[in-house]
Amino acid sequence: MDQQASISPFLPGTNIQFGWDSTSFGWLKTCARLYQYSMIEGWRSRGQHVHLDFGSFYHAALELYDRHKATGADHNEALYEAVKYCLEVTWVYPGLETVEVREVEPKTEGGISWGTHEVIQQFPVEGKPMDWGHNLKTRETLVRSVIWYLEEFGEKDAAQTVILANGKPAVELSFRLELDYGPKQQPRSDGPSMIPGGISYTVQQQPYILSGHLDRVVSFQDGIYVMDRKTSSTTIGSYYFDGYNPDNQMSLYTFASKVIYSTPVKGVIIDAAQIAVGFTRFSRGFTFRTEAQTEEWLVNTKEWLALAESYATKGFLPMNDKSCNIYGGQFVEKMVALNGLRLQMDMVDSITTVRLCMLMLLHGNYIKVDGPYTENIFAIIVIIEFV
Ligand code: SF4
Repeated sequence: MDQQASISPFLPGTNIQFGWDSTSFGWLKTCARLYQYSMIEGWRSRGQHVHLDFGSFYHAALELYDRHKATGADHNEALYEAVKYCLEVTWVYPGLETVEVREVEPKTEGGISWGTHEVIQQFPVEGKPMDWGHNLKTRETLVRSVIWYLEEFGEKDAAQTVILANGKPAVELSFRLELDYGPKQQPRSDGPSMIPGGISYTVQQQPYILSGHLDRVVSFQDGIYVMDRKTSSTTIGSYYFDGYNPDNQMSLYTFASKVIYSTPVKGVIIDAAQIAVGFTRFSRGFTFRTEAQTEEWLVNTKEWLALAESYATKGFLPMNDKSCNIYGGQFVEKMVALNGLRLQMDMVDSITTVRLCMLMLLHGNYIKVDGPYTENIFAIIVIIEFV
């Protein structure tokens, strides 16, 4: 097993992305401007972390169970480790808590006064259970969901974890696949300039890389499947599973696992957990992919990658205003801020206006993350030795 430090999925000095996962594909396909804000600029909603935390703790606990079971532990021993993990990871240990505090003291920026600004302060805290302030995603519902899932699908599960040729269980597999083509224009500093006064370009060197994370690979009845675990707050019925065909993430996972195993993979088993206040309910569904569907997804992927490169080269990523409502308008506030920016262009100079816009964003409901990357891409890539 090899570990690689965090690196950028963009070609150096450009917004041309060569490393892709299903999340960044999803942003691009939903709305190019959403992709710009989320992937290129790295904006995130402040409220997102409860869902990310809950989902990642849920996945990690089930992974622990799978690993212990695959290495000889019985159900109760593996369950104990999974629950222990949940309790430990959702406990706030005594120490200093960093808090963003909104102050009412007016600040002045570029001649414009602002009613509040945020400062970082630290407060001593006692040990206590983690509280996300969310009615459905709590420490209790996390532990309950893990226990109930494993009661339903742990010991008696007909889907069995595949054991890799290296003897390791096929759980939580990170993958990277190189395509046999890359971005057409790749700037380089050591070649002759082909654009007078501009950046020099050369023929392709860096291939596109598709990356992702498979929860588990299982054998079920007569076939091999990827297994993906989801949590949802909505009722799960057949329409829920129908929504995954077609679906970018499931097609990528099926394609990746076919390449990795050099064997027909039938599709993805989705184990969905509906988290409610008083219960967690589980449903298992299947989404199949034929060879023709996978091939079509690959052909489409090539076109999407070319489109992303074209946007990045032009430096303009258009709004898809038909996606605002279906996507939940995650960046509607930001679009409003930008529209406000345009309205005020004749009142203040453009540099002040840009600062004005950025302040609105920083003091609003969005934060900028350190890297403009999704959680999957190269955060910490673990290259699994599959054979
Ligand atoms: S609010 Fe609409 S146009 Fe703006 S980023 Fe979101 S989907 Fe795109």
